[in-house]
Amino acid sequence: IEIVGAPIFNERNMLKGAVLVLYDITHLKKLELMRKDFVANVSHELKTPITSIKGFAETLLDGAMNDSETLKNFLTIINDESTRLQGLIEDLLTLSRLEKDEFKLVRSTLNMNDLVDEVLPIIRQSAEQKGISLTAEVGESISLQADKERVKQVVINLLTNAISYTSEDGEVKLTVTDTEDEVQIQVSDTGIGIDQEAIPRLFERFYRVDKARSRNTGGTGLGLAIVKHIVEVHEGKVSVDSEPNNGSTFRVYLPK
Ligand code: ADP
Repeated sequence: IEIVGAPIFNERNMLKGAVLVLYDITHLKKLELMRKDFVANVSHELKTPITSIKGFAETLLDGAMNDSETLKNFLTIINDESTRLQGLIEDLLTLSRLEKDEFKLVRSTLNMNDLVDEVLPIIRQSAEQKGISLTAEVGESISLQADKERVKQVVINLLTNAISYTSEDGEVKLTVTDTEDEVQIQVSDTGIGIDQEAIPRLFERFYRVDKARSRNTGGTGLGLAIVKHIVEVHEGKVSVDSEPNNGSTFRVYLPK
């Protein structure tokens, strides 16, 4: 609470009383804390790959380059870390665009069969690499008024997570159904699952259940924050059902 006070004097200039104004600045403080947290998180996330890129590049320049095996290993790491950096910057830009007040959805009639046909080839390779079976079931001619690129991103993020957090030979399934006024997109996996107490925090920026594991999977910690934003600007809802070691199901509901 912030307090601003002023004395009140009578006509003979004698102190008569005082006015105290109490401002509840909890919300402002919270925003400020969130902003500081965010900047600290972003800086940390940017620093990690850059430190690694620089370290490996310097070691190569110091002579490790002469060994062709080492050269290849280190260049692979440098390339992977650059890709991670690129992903992080793209995610940050997406979030910041979504948060701008002037952000406008480009709505058009979006056919979910077409969307799934576009998304699956993008995801298939990473599923195959892990030996995960990826299947999709889309109801006939389901369509809605929505921003195609954004909804595509929601489906990609959910499927990418499902594959990342599912071990070899697991299963990932995308199901699209509809009712009279909404479309339901469901992504379920047979993966590691999520603790009940972590579920409410999943959609926070940079929140990860297991930091080390998530970094290894190449995640940025922003995927679900982006999903939530996109769903909310479409006035939809997202929910999660999960149990540790027993897979997860993410559901997105979008009004038609
Ligand atoms: P990340 O880039 O770390 O995957 P996200 O915002 O996409 O970031 O997800 C936040 C966290 O939620 C992840 O780090 C992971 O701990 C958890 N998570 C997301 N999807 C799944 C899933 N399908 N199965 C298990 N855990 C998940």
